[in-house]
Amino acid sequence: MPLMLKPPTQCALWTDPEATLANPLKQHFALHATFVEESHWWRYLLECRECGQRYVYEFHEEVDWADGDDPQYVTLVPVETQAEIDAVSAAPQGCLGGFIPRLCKDWPKGAARHLVRWVT
Ligand SMILES: [Zn+2]
Repeated sequence: MPLMLKPPTQCALWTDPEATLANPLKQHFALHATFVEESHWWRYLLECRECGQRYVYEFHEEVDWADGDDPQYVTLVPVETQAEIDAVSAAPQGCLGGFIPRLCKDWPKGAARHLVRWVT
């Protein structure tokens, strides 16, 4: 069963994720906590500078030994309570798929550009 979270409808990211994610992360978000910071896996707690919405942010990358075209995945999960933050931050690497809604910005192997979408 996916964990249903409150859609952040007040946030610019909700209506225009492509434009928002085109900016450097620092421009749109304040960093509140670092859960993981490894070479191919980062997980942070971010807060939107505009509306105060908090997100658990994850970046991870798979090493493409054959072609060096490493697929990259970014996921943002909107969170409100400490219980939600704890649940999302405790999920295994690359396993934020159990949380809805979530914003995915993926760069699969061989893609020409990022694919940005909300999974709702
Ligand atoms: Zn916002």
